Amino acid sequence: MGRAHGPADLTPPAGVTPAPAPEWLAVAQAAKGFMPDDEGWALHEAARAAAASGLGPLLEVGTYCGKSAVYIGAGARERSAVLFTVDHHRGSEENQAGWEHHDSSLVDPATGRMDTLPFFRRTIFDAGLEGTVIAVIGESPLVASQWTTPLSFLFIDGGHGAEPAWADYRGWTPHVAAGGLLAIHDVFPDPAHGGRPPYELYCDARESGAFEDLSETGSLRVLRRR
Ligand code: SAH
Ligand code: MG
Repeated sequence: MGRAHGPADLTPPAGVTPAPAPEWLAVAQAAKGFMPDDEGWALHEAARAAAASGLGPLLEVGTYCGKSAVYIGAGARERSAVLFTVDHHRGSEENQAGWEHHDSSLVDPATGRMDTLPFFRRTIFDAGLEGTVIAVIGESPLVASQWTTPLSFLFIDGGHGAEPAWADYRGWTPHVAAGGLLAIHDVFPDPAHGGRPPYELYCDARESGAFEDLSETGSLRVLRRR
């Protein structure tokens, strides 16, 4: 998909001066979150292609502190598109106190609840993406129920329990335009490596006949709507 980027091409041939890393990359890498760099680059490439298609804006479900939004948003910006990113900013079940992925520095002392919004705002400011990445704050299925704009790109990385994951999938995938891309994170065919709902969403997308495989990077899958 277009110009090669990323870890694989950081070593230039002898005598060639390496291109400087883009200024947003260090911000993405430093942000709190759950997006390995190789998968982030794959998202970036998919976002560039989707943005270039002109089929509509890009949308992410599961903002957290903006880590994946920087990889995607930087791709959208190169092609003058925008990225909507949806989150209630209260964390998923596995982010709450006592769970595996809890980070107590994300708790708002005034409410005692998680609030990742200030961290997201800082990330997007630091990455210079305030003109590209638009936060939508709320329950993902509620936002999906009011959404009408066709999407060139949809990234599903919200709640990973069966109920929220299927609600995101059912609520958002109908908005992907024909020819648009669907990316799903945390797809683990082997349940020993991680929870199943994202894998089941991926299988459903393929088996429905509506989407075809485009790429696979770690636990990231990118498909295209037929
Ligand atoms: N993409 C992020 C990680 C997302 S973690 C990264 O790159 O680091 C999952 C996020 O989904 C959490 O921030 C959580 O608040 C959000 N989330 C979970 N269920 C949700 C729902 N029903 N509506 C809106 N956001 C939800
Ligand atoms: Mg994820």
